[in-house]
Amino acid sequence: MKLNYIAGNWVQGVDSIKNDNPSDTNDIIDEYSFASSEQAQMAIEAAADAAPKWSQSSPLQRFEVLDAIGTEVIARKNELGDLLAREEGKTLNEAVAEVNRAGYLFKFFAAEAFRSDSDGYSSIRSGVNLAVKREPLGVIGVITPWNFPVAIPAWKIAPALAYGNTVVFKPAEIVPGSAWALAEIISRSGLPEGVFNLVMGTGNVVGQALVDSPLVEGITFTGSTPVGKKIGARVFERGGKIQLEMGGKNPLIISNDADLDLAVNCAIQGSFYATGQRCTASSRLIVEDAIHDKFVEKMIAAMGRLRIGDARDANTDIGPVASAEQLEIDKKYLQIGEQEGARKLIGGKLLKLHKSGYYLSPALFGETANSMRINQEEIFGPVASIIRVCNFDEAIQVANDVDVGLSAGIITCDHQKIEEFISRVQAGMVQINLPTAGMDFHAPFTGRKGSSFGPPEKGSYCREFFTQAKVVHQGAMPQINKGLRDAK
Ligand code: NAD
Repeated sequence: MKLNYIAGNWVQGVDSIKNDNPSDTNDIIDEYSFASSEQAQMAIEAAADAAPKWSQSSPLQRFEVLDAIGTEVIARKNELGDLLAREEGKTLNEAVAEVNRAGYLFKFFAAEAFRSDSDGYSSIRSGVNLAVKREPLGVIGVITPWNFPVAIPAWKIAPALAYGNTVVFKPAEIVPGSAWALAEIISRSGLPEGVFNLVMGTGNVVGQALVDSPLVEGITFTGSTPVGKKIGARVFERGGKIQLEMGGKNPLIISNDADLDLAVNCAIQGSFYATGQRCTASSRLIVEDAIHDKFVEKMIAAMGRLRIGDARDANTDIGPVASAEQLEIDKKYLQIGEQEGARKLIGGKLLKLHKSGYYLSPALFGETANSMRINQEEIFGPVASIIRVCNFDEAIQVANDVDVGLSAGIITCDHQKIEEFISRVQAGMVQINLPTAGMDFHAPFTGRKGSSFGPPEKGSYCREFFTQAKVVHQGAMPQINKGLRDAK
């Protein structure tokens, strides 16, 4: 049984779950102990007690801890990647790449610890020094989703610690194994007791305890839009600081001048890799009329070649859906699409392979309208739609006609379209001739409209969330000041 980590001790919770392997549901990975609300409170108090001292820790101490975590994560990327693929169902390549990225995120934020924590300005008054100091918030509650169970915790925990905060981490229920492995590495990194805590459990119990506690100064949340909005309202109400990264319904525009092979490759990768379970997945393929038929034909052929199978099999392109619950959601939307009049061009079938897993062949809907529910609501599975448009102008309008705006892409060779796309598309992240998913680890991560709230994650930009500004005006000392007083 894997335990919670509270105030420097491994602590048995009050409940437990066994996580299974979505590629083979007979394979039970381990048992994880779920904390109670009172134990979450103990973790919060431990983090609050540790906060004043950690806020004064030297940049070198923070660097050494974070760099050591990054080094170990990278050194163990194959082993941890295997666990991630086994637990979540993304392919081994994708899982190892995620773990590697998590390691580099720790190293990036290790170096950030050395960045100056104040900015100097010239005052408009002579004899006055003006500076803006950056101070840690205190306790940060980290609440994460199941689809990137190593990288997303890494890009929240690492900056929280680098900028001098303490952490209570609550991972997603269905992927506790990867989170626990990361927490175990962090527990041996030399952090003082209470600076980092892991409390596993449900959103309603452990997550809610973090959201409600006045001792938790900031909540950084990644997950679905409805849960994010609810959490955001509660934290705002009690005066906490909030950073929300939520859902997407990301468009990929295929322009009539696009290189067809590149377009198909980007669409397949963006829509279906990681089983379509990425907030940046291209779920809406917006295709100009002149290229539509050829693109659709090539997409169907390419999708027919995709190998669906055990996430840890080297021949697999697309692993299983992560859980029985997510499979039910995918099936529901496949039905909704057909009821709405969309034409299923390929896929959307439950596959019986030699192991009992949540296997679903990637599905493509054609002849869809952007107003359909399958094009407005996040499905979070291997399901994408083709939306045919007359021209580029309509493509942009359709791309923007959703209430979220995380990532958006275009495949084109036309420089003018690229410029116009960048300036007109309502998304936090834009990809040109690339899949909509796949971001550099040192760049910020952010969305528009209902996708994000608060300062961006990752990169130096996230300092805005993990610290608070203090503006300092300092006049000369009294004896030096005498001249100034006389002049008054
Ligand atoms: P979810 O919203 O169901 O859960 C996310 C986390 O919130 C989990 O840890 C859950 O236990 C917790 N939670 C649930 N209710 C809570 C409550 N009342 N109080 C506190 N915590 C609570 O999301 P999920 O199903 O785990 O993940 C899929 C979603 O995440 C998708 O919508 C996807 O788009 C989104 N996502 C967004 C990004 C991004 O950066 N924008 C990245 C990855 C995933």
